[in-house]
Amino acid sequence: MKVYNLCCERDHRFEGWFSSEEDFSAQSCKELIECPICESRSVRKLPSAPRLNLSSAQPPQNDVSQQIQAEVIEVMRKIVASTEDVGERFAEEARRIHYNEAPERAIRGTASQSERAALAEEGIEVMSLPMPPALKQPLQ
Ligand SMILES: [Zn+2]
Repeated sequence: MKVYNLCCERDHRFEGWFSSEEDFSAQSCKELIECPICESRSVRKLPSAPRLNLSSAQPPQNDVSQQIQAEVIEVMRKIVASTEDVGERFAEEARRIHYNEAPERAIRGTASQSERAALAEEGIEVMSLPMPPALKQPLQ
């Protein structure tokens, strides 16, 4: 008994069971093999190990989203590398910089919702960025 992975002209994939290679060829020649989904008789045999092929060739949109994710992480990394981590003193430090009590520099840290609201009220602009957990650890 042989099991073949078959595919119709509309790219429906299904398995066909044949007693032998010759049996498949004969049925294929006479167009006796029918797609169970659309009943097309234009059916071809796929390479015998399609699962192996599939695992190495991922759908293109996957590659794109992985690339975007990599780019986002790269941008985040640059932000992390070019800012000073002030941690939970973020709101306090942002305020000190705003009122020229501390040297002007780019800082990052955590602020609560109410701290951010208070900063906004004082006209201190802060940017919120969701950080991937992997980047929260110190880079050094
Ligand atoms: Zn079909």
